[in-house]
Amino acid sequence: METRMLIGSNFEAGTEFLEPIINPRNGEIIYTQPEASPDQVDRAVRSARKAFDSWSRTTPGERSELLLKIADAMEAKVEELSQLEALNCGKPINEMRTMEIPYTADCFRFFASAVRNMKGMVAGNYLEGHTSMVRRDAIGVVASIAPWNYPLMMMAWKLAPALAGGNTVVLKPSEGTPMTALAFGKILSEILPEGVVNVVVGRGATVGSQLINHPEVDMISITGSIGTGKKAIEAAEATIKRTHLELGGKAPVIVYDDADLEAVVTGLKSHSFYNAGQDCTAACRIYASDRIYEKLVADLASAADSIVYNDDDDTKNEIPPLISGVHRDRVSGFVERAAASDHIEIVTGGSAPEGPGFYYKPTIIAGALQQDEIVRKEVFGPVVSVTRFTDDDPVLDWANDSPYGLAASVWTSDVSTAMRAAEVLRYGTTWVNTHFVMTNELPHGGLKQSGYGKDLSMYSLEDYTLVRHVMIAY
Ligand code: NAD
Repeated sequence: METRMLIGSNFEAGTEFLEPIINPRNGEIIYTQPEASPDQVDRAVRSARKAFDSWSRTTPGERSELLLKIADAMEAKVEELSQLEALNCGKPINEMRTMEIPYTADCFRFFASAVRNMKGMVAGNYLEGHTSMVRRDAIGVVASIAPWNYPLMMMAWKLAPALAGGNTVVLKPSEGTPMTALAFGKILSEILPEGVVNVVVGRGATVGSQLINHPEVDMISITGSIGTGKKAIEAAEATIKRTHLELGGKAPVIVYDDADLEAVVTGLKSHSFYNAGQDCTAACRIYASDRIYEKLVADLASAADSIVYNDDDDTKNEIPPLISGVHRDRVSGFVERAAASDHIEIVTGGSAPEGPGFYYKPTIIAGALQQDEIVRKEVFGPVVSVTRFTDDDPVLDWANDSPYGLAASVWTSDVSTAMRAAEVLRYGTTWVNTHFVMTNELPHGGLKQSGYGKDLSMYSLEDYTLVRHVMIAY
């Protein structure tokens, strides 16, 4: 197992604070990870800076070839990477093998193609006697900060467009989940030139903060909480860095009375509870028409009860435990406060099961009202609230009434209802009759305090490149 960081072409052990890396299935320490020293962070940034000149001058075709090699190498190591992520995050092994790793490898393949197919304004004479052309070029050194909920996938979402665009990167995984990032760093070092990717580990307040404030960093890319996003904006100020922020969500799900309820329940079993709801797009805030409300609540509760999560045979498990004891306490705090309210009913779940690990029972909360904390705050756990609406209620306004703006869904058989909702909902993604489904070709990113900038798709490649104008007078 690789526990050393990638700085330039060297593998170096951190020399500072020892972070216990915990297995969330049993709460035991897997090993302790030393974090990077200020000197190591500084050298990582300098090595990315040094590599930038030559990497940014490679052709799209050359970068594409290396990105394809990365995808192949990831697939060749599917078992090792799946086992590491399953150990570090408690993710069901089959989800890693059959979904997350193939999808993550495809991210590199998508950007390998995308960079060879960028389009833009045509060169021409927009002023008499002057020919103009518009270039798209690399930005520079990107400080990439990743969260713990999908460590390897988030690393790919940040690295693939940045590298395709000709940037060099210093990546910091979340302090509690560094295992796949370090293993993947090793793989990357065998494919990419020295310094193009560097991986440093450590806490946000120390290593993360030093990295995003480093004067040689040109762009900060963060997936994390709103608080961390604000830190990035502050850090950007001193040297006017670009920022790319993917910050939390509280996805509303509107179920009209003409929806296919069986499809809603089958869908939400996965869209609400995948990764134990530790997902910024999780379908966690349901608004149900009063004509189907009772049936939907009952059917969702049965679906939640059927989810397998702590079977000794991991190939049967559908969701992981929560990432830590602290996070489980936070999730159960939300549920306890909701349960104390007279109008709320915990229909199923609402507690941790007996036994080791940070598991929490899939939970359905009925009777929630728009002003309730459980409807307004991001819980980031396997907890779904259901709120009843009548024809007189402004349900689209309720859905929009949130500081978040990442993702929403609408379930209806009427195309006019769907199109009106898609127009009105202020979310980066609106799904109709589905939720949570993503593909590397299409953009993912928020509005409002969910941040700005897109992951995935051509739009992400645009975010990781800049536009320059060259004008020739003759
Ligand atoms: P977090 O903000 O606590 O940490 C995210 C990363 O930022 C970690 O690597 C952390 O070490 C680092 N960090 C923290 N403080 C920092 C600082 N001062 N300077 C630099 N780096 C710092 O978030 P988390 O708990 O790891 O992840 C959960 C959050 O991420 C949730 O709010 C979730 O919704 C959000 N998230 C958003 C998306 C999205 O695409 N919008 C995807 C996944 C997770």
